[in-house]
Amino acid sequence: MKRVESIQILDLGALGAQIQADTSFAEAVKAALQLRGQAQEELFALARESRLRGFPDRRAEVRSVIEISNICKQRCNYCNIGSEGTTKYVIPSDDLVEIAAFLYRERGRRVLLLQAGENKDRRFVANLVRACARIKERMPDLQLIGCIGNLSRAQYQALREAGVDRYLLKIESSRPELYESVKPNDRWQERYQCLLDLIDLGFMVGSGIIVGLPGQTEDDLVADLRFLTDLNLDMVSASVFIPGHGTAYAHCPPGDVDLTLNFMALLRILNPYALMPTTSSLEKLKPDGQYLGLMAGANTLTVHDGTPPEFQHLFPIYDETRYRPNDAHLRALAARAGLVVAA
Ligand code: SF4
Repeated sequence: MKRVESIQILDLGALGAQIQADTSFAEAVKAALQLRGQAQEELFALARESRLRGFPDRRAEVRSVIEISNICKQRCNYCNIGSEGTTKYVIPSDDLVEIAAFLYRERGRRVLLLQAGENKDRRFVANLVRACARIKERMPDLQLIGCIGNLSRAQYQALREAGVDRYLLKIESSRPELYESVKPNDRWQERYQCLLDLIDLGFMVGSGIIVGLPGQTEDDLVADLRFLTDLNLDMVSASVFIPGHGTAYAHCPPGDVDLTLNFMALLRILNPYALMPTTSSLEKLKPDGQYLGLMAGANTLTVHDGTPPEFQHLFPIYDETRYRPNDAHLRALAARAGLVVAA
């Protein structure tokens, strides 16, 4: 993967009226985060130029997500997956293989995201490893992305050896105190070590943050931008905070969509070669939000078509009214944003 040599090359020259050429990186980022109207459009245009440099074929990746289990040992303040009283489920290995085969065959999907709550249970991970090995044996060109939180290095290694190509592990915030205040059962250092292990084991690694977390400052966003860029990741992301029903943060105000879009644009400018999703949370807070994410430099779309209907309501990332765009809608969005959908 190619890399932008230095974070200092952040190029906001076209926005000179708003941002002085001699401002420091932090000042430039803070000014860019506040751009609105025409200046924000110019920022997005720079982000799209950067995307075109990294992806000259204008391809957008569409991935199906299979939410394989809602069992989670964490209790993050912004999430209600696996909360007390929720019926727990795990998709059996055989079913997982069949779902993957269906999506591959019937939907033409070539990228699958296997998502679950955090669960280091030996049997759970061993079953998943076996299922992934069978999927890769039958469909070697199907890219598998793991997204099941912090595991031991040996468990990551087993997934890698089973053929799992990529892994998503969001850092949520690069500031340990903020991370531990929103994820009170986890330690930032452990999370960071997991990211380093994943990179070391040869996964294509993705990480990202949530914009608008309670207690987050502008300085945090500047640090997050540096942190994500310096890791030289294959996939980067920023989602907007939504106070989920039934969570500890249910009473908090949602994150700012424009701030999130501007953060995404900056992330794209600094990471031309990384995949970056436009998230359904943007759409939930602003009509056409997911399209705006593409206009701010995103090039990945997620379709929630892999989880059997009987389990979908048990994996409520935000709440039961979660926005679940279908395949055709996302393809139309990509086309409107000038992107070509890859399988
Ligand atoms: S965000 Fe992930 S780790 Fe945290 S409670 Fe939800 S599913 Fe579990």
